[in-house]
Amino acid sequence: MKKKQSSAHAHAVEQLLQVAALLRDSYVGDKEVQFDAAINKLREPDQVHETELQITMDDGTEKSFTAYRSQHDNARGPYKGGIRFHPNVSKDEVMALSTWMTWKSAVTGIPYGGSKGGIIVDPRDLSMAELQRLSRAYARFVAPFVGPWVDVPAPDVNTTGQIMAWMVDEYEQYQQETMGTFSENPLATFTGKPLELGGSQGREEATGLGGVYVLEILCKKMGWKKPNDVTIAIQGFGNVGYWFALHAAERGFKVVAVSDSKQVLYDATGLSPRDVLATKKRTGSLTEDSSQVISAEELLALDVDVLVPAALENAITLENASTINAKVVIEMANGPTTPEADIVLENKGILVVPDVLANAGGVTTSYFEWVQNLQGYYWSHAEVLSKLEPLMKQAMTDAWDMQELKQVSLRMATYLKAVKSVVDTLILRGRV
Ligand code: GLU
Repeated sequence: MKKKQSSAHAHAVEQLLQVAALLRDSYVGDKEVQFDAAINKLREPDQVHETELQITMDDGTEKSFTAYRSQHDNARGPYKGGIRFHPNVSKDEVMALSTWMTWKSAVTGIPYGGSKGGIIVDPRDLSMAELQRLSRAYARFVAPFVGPWVDVPAPDVNTTGQIMAWMVDEYEQYQQETMGTFSENPLATFTGKPLELGGSQGREEATGLGGVYVLEILCKKMGWKKPNDVTIAIQGFGNVGYWFALHAAERGFKVVAVSDSKQVLYDATGLSPRDVLATKKRTGSLTEDSSQVISAEELLALDVDVLVPAALENAITLENASTINAKVVIEMANGPTTPEADIVLENKGILVVPDVLANAGGVTTSYFEWVQNLQGYYWSHAEVLSKLEPLMKQAMTDAWDMQELKQVSLRMATYLKAVKSVVDTLILRGRV
């Protein structure tokens, strides 16, 4: 079958069909028909909302931006997923990302389905005032079809707690204008909010930290005893890459390389993520020492134990997969490995911890935030982490056991559990 490399959604569907082929035998009799119907249903999102958002720019001109919200499946609970602001956002991309969110929620067992939204925009081109107007316009667009029991958005690439705060505020105004009151809890409608406005302790670091919990289980399984002997290269130094680097370094792992969109910093003796962030804040660059700079291609090819793509999709492709020398790839970005590259890595014996498992710490802590918002009762940082750690470690252990039991890749093992859980819920509900 010819694969369409350019379509992220085609990639997501192809993964689903591969999993379905392995799961199908366990559904017999009437269940077989229901299983096929469920898989068929899960190929497409339930609905994809699309609009043009008009805002007034600072110079008085009007500009319009294309925006989406894809709601994939809500059998296991309300749709859940982030909103990204990026020039490469497309309908195809949000459809794929919303599908992956459905699996991600099922991986740690949190009671959500999957959704994803986005705006085609480079937020660096906007002033703060324009960014606020655009965020508010987006909140107004989704207001009729989000809510704590319907769809709960959150940050994703280039969106922040501040943006969630503006969206909560706009959503409140929308409810007051249309109903004269709040029929839905506005705080529980968005997660990833600032602490001052109903956010949760630990949410900001949760995606990166969750990946480090996964790494800790991995070390046990691989027989890697001393963190200091484990070298790590990280592509991406945004929220996810930074917190992964920091928590890994704090546990003694040797982070030897980090990169952002402009530069790759390499130091064989190990980096201090905190110092690198301070340099980046001060100078705009990861380092001012050009002798420490290597190319993006060299980063991927480093002879390290763990390679962590923590930026965007399609970082590991057919073109560069054969150059990768790491023993393990931990996918902290969503969809960083193309299906063709995945096969190359598997043939090279490189273990891949899939995105829907590795980066599930973010949405899992979003769930904790939502629970706290619904209760109006807030937990300490330690309490949040004490709930996150066992969920992430159990998910990784389950995937590992399934991989051994079924003799499939870790990605396939993770998907087997997640897709089964969604299919079984669709059958229980009688939706298929
Ligand atoms: N955007 C994050 C992700 O892709 C978090 C989603 C959420 O918290 O709802 O997992």
